[in-house]
Amino acid sequence: MANKKLERKNLLCTDALHEYILETNVYPREHEQLKALREATQNHPLSIMGTPPEEGQLLMLLVKIMNAKKTIEIGVFTGYSLLCTALALPGDGKIIAIDPDRENYEIGLQYIQKAGVENKINFIQSEALPVLDRILQEGKEEGSFDFAFVDADKTNYGEYHERLLKLVKVGGIIGYDNTLWFGLVAALEDPDHHEILREIRNFFVKFNKFLASDSRIEVSQICIGDGLTLCRRLS
Ligand code: SAH
Ligand code: CA
Repeated sequence: MANKKLERKNLLCTDALHEYILETNVYPREHEQLKALREATQNHPLSIMGTPPEEGQLLMLLVKIMNAKKTIEIGVFTGYSLLCTALALPGDGKIIAIDPDRENYEIGLQYIQKAGVENKINFIQSEALPVLDRILQEGKEEGSFDFAFVDADKTNYGEYHERLLKLVKVGGIIGYDNTLWFGLVAALEDPDHHEILREIRNFFVKFNKFLASDSRIEVSQICIGDGLTLCRRLS
C-alpha cells in the first residue's frame, strides 16, 4: 500500500534489518584483521561478549572524528573493540587496555599484530579500578585521555565514571557498553531470569537514570549492539 502510515520510529525491530545493515554497510568495509579476529572468536563459549561489528564501526568513526590520540579500554576479551580503536587512532596513538584475563587477549593478539597496531597498545593485566586509581594517584595524566570505552564489570560502571571524568579531557568521550542490557531495562524485572541477569538489569536501570541527570556530562543513549551510552565531559 503506497500510503501506508509509518508509525514506528525505533528502527531495529527485525533481525532482517540488522542483517541488512551488516551486509550493506559493515561487512564489506570491515578490516580483514577485524574480520579474522571476529571469526576466531565466533566459537568461543563467551563469544556473545565480543563487540558487534556495526558497533565497532561506530567506535572507529567516533575515534577519528574526535581526532583522538589517547584512549582507555576497560574489558578487552579477545580484543575486537580494542583493535577497532587501535586501527582508528593515528600512528602515534596510545591505548591503555585493561583486563584481568590475558588468555582471551592472546587469542586476538595475533590479528592485532598482523594489522600492525600492537605498538599503540599497553595491555595491563589487572582489574581496572586499581589501575585507574594508580594513574590518578601518580597525578600526571588527569584530563589527558580523549576517549574511554567501558565494557567490563557492569556493576562497577559508577566507580569507573567518577575516575574517568577526571582522566578524560573536557570535551572527551566516555562510552558505556551494554546499557540497554538485552532490552531488559524497559521490562519489568522477571523472577525467571538468572539472578546475575536481574542484578545487572537493576543496576543499569539506576545507572542510566543517574547518567541522564549528571550535569557534568552531555549524554546520548545509542541503540546499537546491546546499547551504547556516550557521555561527553562538560567541565
Ligand atoms: N570489549 C570486548 C568485550 C569485553 S567482555 C570486545 O570487544 O570483545 C568483558 C571483559 O571484561 C572480559 O574479558 C573480562 O575478563 C573483563 N573484566 C571483568 N572484570 C573486569 C575488571 N574488574 N576490570 C577489567 N576488566 C574486567
Ligand atoms: Ca559489550
